[in-house]
Amino acid sequence: MDTLNGIAPDGLLGFVRGTSLDAKTRARLAEAVPDEFFTYPGGLTARGHQELTYQRLRRAGLAAPPAPELLDDPPALCALLERAAIADPALFHVMLLHYTLALGPVLRFGAGQDGPRRAREDMESMASFGTLLMTEVGRSNSHLSPRTVARHDPATGGFVLSTPDAQAAKFPTSTAHPRVPKTAAVYATLVHGGREHGVFVFVVALRGPDGAVPPGVRITDAPETTGLQVDYAAVRLDDLHVPYEAWLRDGASIQGAGAEGVFHDPAGSPAARLTRSMGIAPAVWRAVISASAAITRASAGMLLAHSAGRATLGRLAPRRPLTDYRNQQEAVLGALASGYALTAVAVHAQARRTSADAGDGGGPDTAWAPWSAVDRDLALLKAAATTQAQETVSACRVHSGAPGFAAVERLNAYRGLTHAYMNAGGDNELILYDTARAMADLDRYAPPDPGAGPPDGGDLDSPAVWLFLARDTERRMRDRLAARVRAAAGSGQDAFTAWNGNLVLAARTAAACADRLVLEICAAALDAGPAELRPVLRLHALNLLDRRAADLLNEGVAPPGVLDEVWAARRRACDELAPRAGQLAAAFELPAAITAPTAFLDVR
Ligand SMILES: Cc1cc2nc3c(=O)[nH]c(=O)nc-3n(C[C@H](O)[C@H](O)[C@H](O)COP(=O)(O)OP(=O)(O)OC[C@H]3O[C@@H](n4cnc5c(N)ncnc54)[C@H](O)[C@@H]3O)c2cc1C
Repeated sequence: MDTLNGIAPDGLLGFVRGTSLDAKTRARLAEAVPDEFFTYPGGLTARGHQELTYQRLRRAGLAAPPAPELLDDPPALCALLERAAIADPALFHVMLLHYTLALGPVLRFGAGQDGPRRAREDMESMASFGTLLMTEVGRSNSHLSPRTVARHDPATGGFVLSTPDAQAAKFPTSTAHPRVPKTAAVYATLVHGGREHGVFVFVVALRGPDGAVPPGVRITDAPETTGLQVDYAAVRLDDLHVPYEAWLRDGASIQGAGAEGVFHDPAGSPAARLTRSMGIAPAVWRAVISASAAITRASAGMLLAHSAGRATLGRLAPRRPLTDYRNQQEAVLGALASGYALTAVAVHAQARRTSADAGDGGGPDTAWAPWSAVDRDLALLKAAATTQAQETVSACRVHSGAPGFAAVERLNAYRGLTHAYMNAGGDNELILYDTARAMADLDRYAPPDPGAGPPDGGDLDSPAVWLFLARDTERRMRDRLAARVRAAAGSGQDAFTAWNGNLVLAARTAAACADRLVLEICAAALDAGPAELRPVLRLHALNLLDRRAADLLNEGVAPPGVLDEVWAARRRACDELAPRAGQLAAAFELPAAITAPTAFLDVR
């Protein structure tokens, strides 16, 4: 297998770069996260480390195009966040919070309002960093119904924000650093005239310019952690008074008719309001999918750098190159292929515009979380991308041996990021369950038509065959899931019992749908992309079929022995790709900081 010194053919480079950004913008975004951000000086305390992360966020924000432009241009914002993710997952996390989850709601829901102007200016100028107070610590699925309330106060016309008890504390939040100014987007249930009117966002200055906390805000630091190193804390609000204009109203109002005024919300119902308030999520999902692709590409490049040219001493064949062994070869090439496939998914996600972008969720009814109601497929692709990245990054870590664990923090940090975002940004399992329920109920979901088949004589090298197998599996699983839930309900079981007995099938059915979407995206990329891409995406498709083999067999879509065929096809794909591994990695244009040998271990 060749090394990282390969020169990527233009076609692959063009595919990875995409066509959305011109060279000048790409260069500007890369310079916003310069090479020095890829490491930290030694000897920092945890707070010192976090302080440097925020200083870098400020530098990046000031060097990048203005925030409103970035939020209007998904490929540009994603490119900035991708670069942050490969440099430093903690920087990615606080940058994502700042742009998409704090400034995003201010610009979107506070449009036309005067009140959030100060918060907006502070965040746009990076004088204050955005943070999110959404999740509550003590109950699962808190996003569906936050217990933090914003009570309208007729005396002042403003609101009083309160945390009813410790269980409703907002956690995790990135608010512990005592000297870092913070502006929070607080998700709270609005109460007016003694009635709850749904979940809205309120903007609150949580820590002033010097980091001081105002009266009414209680911040409890979390212990130091290493998985994704930011300044976690729990936040409680003790009757915090905020002005009417802190309410990011999104067209709602309390006006006229007596001291209390009349509540009006164009969303029409608390359920619709929740979906609208979560309408900032597509920007998060695009970024998380793009970051998943970026750290997968980086991990694949690191694994190739570790593996190429490394000799083995195994007794079967002493001094045989490590990558001559199929296990390592398939790990390296599979990781590269995964990087390309996720890049295709990221391009698709960045280009996708949904009704959520226009302010209305177009998704199905949900039971576990609000996410699928906002955009079922984008939420599902976020779950699929983080799961894939987690799998590939973990495999790269293991196949990089001790140097991949102990010589540099990078692969551990990438793994921490993928793990975190399997919960964060919309919990993957809950997204799968809501997707499965929509599939079973045919709620804005049409089962894919596999057509007659398998086509092309069942040749696993053919994209038509992957699509046939994926679609047929998904359709059969959906039918079985729907029948089982229907039968359970028909026998008198309540909805909880009917679904609870079928959660394994539900999660796998939704995951099958996700795989099918990914394969369709890969097939489209094959049609439109350069010829060099074909064996790469074929390898990824074969790996997906390997992963889904239990379901192919369980549903009778493929006969026993199918795995032997998949493995043989994979060996063929790897034989074709092995001489070009360096070219495949070169097209990722990874900074030297990622793939260079660790200086103190330079034993080559
Ligand atoms: C690193 C990190 C940073 C974060 N940063 C922020 C932040 O800045 N601000 C913020 O507001 N939030 C933040 N979050 C919170 C994130 O949104 C939540 O972790 C996520 O939504 C899951 O909620 P939870 O942690 O309460 O877990 P739970 O809701 O308890 O879910 C845990 C697991 O329990 C199971 N489960 C839960 N409910 C059900 C059910 N009804 N049916 C079946 N199974 C169920 C699922 O397997 C699920 O994965 C962050 C999370 C992480 C990991």
